[in-house]
Formats: sequence, structure tokens, C-alpha cells
Amino acid sequence: MNETRHTNESARVLDTVVIGGGQAGLAIGYHLARQRRDLLILDAHERVGDAWRLRWDSLRLFTPAKYDGLPGLPFPGDRLAFPTKDELADYLESYAIRFGLPVLTGVRVDRVRRDGDRFLIEASDRRWTARNVVIATGGHQVPRVPGLAERIGASVLQLHSSEYRNPEQLRPGPVLVVGMGNSGAEIALDVSRTHATTIAGTPSGELPVRHGRAAARFVLPVVRFAGLHVLTLGTPVGRRALPKLAAGAAPLIRTKRADLDAAGVARVGRVVDVRHGKPVTAEGTALDVANVIWCTGYRDDLTWLELPAFDEDGTLRQERGVVDGVPGLYAIGQDFMYAVTSATLPGACRDAAYLARRMRARPAVPSTTGAARDETTAARAA
Ligand code: FAD
Repeated sequence: MNETRHTNESARVLDTVVIGGGQAGLAIGYHLARQRRDLLILDAHERVGDAWRLRWDSLRLFTPAKYDGLPGLPFPGDRLAFPTKDELADYLESYAIRFGLPVLTGVRVDRVRRDGDRFLIEASDRRWTARNVVIATGGHQVPRVPGLAERIGASVLQLHSSEYRNPEQLRPGPVLVVGMGNSGAEIALDVSRTHATTIAGTPSGELPVRHGRAAARFVLPVVRFAGLHVLTLGTPVGRRALPKLAAGAAPLIRTKRADLDAAGVARVGRVVDVRHGKPVTAEGTALDVANVIWCTGYRDDLTWLELPAFDEDGTLRQERGVVDGVPGLYAIGQDFMYAVTSATLPGACRDAAYLARRMRARPAVPSTTGAARDETTAARAA
């Protein structure tokens, strides 16, 4: 890499750069700002909240509003309602402004490396230097699509769930949704209003009660408690359960098999092959569909982190967000990093409070004003 092409954003060394300004980055940013650290949050999207805004149009949260607030600012309105994805996105944007969090948007970090006891953070031709780095880039970096997708014919429109917005994007004719996690089930129901729909796969289980206001009042508090305090790496039962839970999809929460049946969605086994350009199920049936939506998840991509921070299998070596062997490097919001809920709003908030307490042990570089800060979301809103 050309070492001279970078523009140093400031001569000073920042205390902390948080990479990712979604809910996890904002939650840790809130605590670090209160520790009066010289902080900068970098985010690849154009607007704070875009990770939510860019999801499909009909998406509502599974967690009720009472569990969707970040530290210091409860989610507004009816506590038992399930916010839309745009309401959550707007809440995150207003949160960054309210607490003056210095989020610089439209900046995709493409390299982080060590320079003595500091980190160099690079994004295209820009560069920052910091004593600490927090990775808050979320678990949805690279859409995962099985290799057999390449053999499906050009007459079939293929989308990953990250690209799906609404049924208007689809071609006339039947739709196959592949993957029966929550995204698959919800998208299949959405699509079934306008297209003949089939869903492939088997769910790992179902929440045994109807999702809604009554569940928000009586059942989800129990689920939340178990997810925050029992299914964690801090309990024997959690240590046994987490690897198994991490290996599979989450149980269906809102849209269950009975809902899909009632909407006329056909259910088939896994897609295992392609014949004459059409997907073939485990039962050996070739499905004559015009559209395939892959709801097959994501994989992490932290290859831009040029640091000795990974196990042999490529997992980030961390304990409750503190990266082992790289002083000053931290992570937040990663799936299952401490609890089954670590990648959700309540989990990221709890983990952020813990991580901030751990980071307090490192002396802070006090907050100042500077060139990079002038461009941030909070500065523009002021
Ligand atoms: P993200 O929201 O993905 O934010 C990461 C940010 O990092 C992004 O803004 C991105 O631009 C930025 N970024 C990534 N790489 C870089 C880089 N190299 N440089 C700079 N910036 C970068 N959780 C709940 O609690 N309740 C729910 O109801 C709920 N529903 C969900 C529904 C769906 C369909 C999905 C997919 C998830 C849902 N979740 C829910 C889980 C979780 O809350 C979300 O995935 C949430 O967006 C994760 O927040 P995050 O901040 O960790 O990551």
C-alpha cells in the first residue's frame, strides 16, 4: 500500500476511534463521551441509522419500544409498540445529535494497523491516529449466498435479503424464499401478498406464544432476562448453550409456520441442487420460480483489521469486548460475543456499559474540538 497517499486528519492523537456508528457504536460512544475522551465515530453509511433504514420496507422490530432505547434516552412513545425500522433509524440519528456524538458518516475504514502503541485508521485517502479502537461494525458485513446460486438461470431474479425492499422489485411469477429464519419467514409473508410463494428450510424452533403487545408485557421480559443474564458466557448453562445457539438460526419470533400456512406459503425442504437452471429441493423437486430471495445470513469480514487479534479459525479473540493481546483494541455488538443478545439493542447497551467500565482503566486523552469534528453529524446539526 502507498504510504504517502493518506491525508492525516489532524496532527493530534485521538483517544478513541469507534468504527461503526450503528446502535452499538453509538451506545459505547455515549459512555466514552461521558468519560470526556477525545472520540471520533466513523461510519460507512451516508446517515446515522442507515443500517436499519436500508432494510425491507415492512420491517418492524421484534423488541418492544421499552427495550429499544440506548443509554440516557428511552425510545419515545408507546412502550409496548414495536417500532418500524425507519422509526428506529430516526431515533438513532436523533440520539447522536442529542448527545453531540461526533459521527463522521460516508467513511468506510479499509485498514487498521499498529504504529507503536497507537493505531492508524485508514479510509481511502484519509487517516487518523488513535490510542484506542472499538470495532462496532455489526454482524452483517458480507451477504452469504450458497455457491449453487451461480448455476441458477438468468431468467430467475435473485436477491439477497439485504437487497430486498418490497414485492415491487420482483418479476411476475412465483417466488422462492430460501432460509427459514426470522428474515426468511417475514419476507415470505410480505411477498405472499402479491406472489405465489414457497419457503425452503426448517426453522430451529418457534417462540411458543403469539408475538404482540401481550407478549411484550408478560413474556418478552422473561426472554430478555434469560438472554441478558442466563444465556451468557458468565453462566455454566450459557457456556454450554451459546456455541450451539451460535451455530444455528434463531427460533421464529413473530411469523410462525402456522402464519405462513394461513397465507398460502408452500413449505419445502432445503435447496440442495440446481437442474436446468432451476433450484431443486431435498425432496428432489425442481421449482419453476421466477424469483429467488436468499435469506441465508451474513458472514463477518474483518480482514481490514491488520492486527494479531484473531484465532486460527479467524474469530476475533476477545473477552467481553476486550481483545486479547492487542492493548487498546475493543469490540462491541458482535453476535454472541458475551450473550445470546449481544447483537441486539438491549444486549449491545449492557455490553457497552461493561466495556466502558473496562476502558476507564486506560487514561483518557481529553476531548477537544478539531477539523474532523466539524464535519460530524452532531456538529452539522448544532
Ligand atoms: P449495524 O446496525 O450493522 O451498524 C454497523 C455500522 O457499521 C453500519 O452503520 C455500517 O455502515 C458501519 N460499518 C461497517 N463496516 C464499516 C467500516 N469498515 N468502516 C466504517 N463503518 C463501517 N435487534 C433488536 O434488538 N431488536 C429487533 O427487533 C431486531 N430486529 C432485527 C431485524 C433484522 C432483519 C435484523 C437483520 C437484525 C435485527 N436485530 C434486532 C439485530 C440487531 O439489533 C441489528 O442487526 C443492529 O443493526 C445491529 O447493530 P450494530 O450497531 O451492531 O450493527
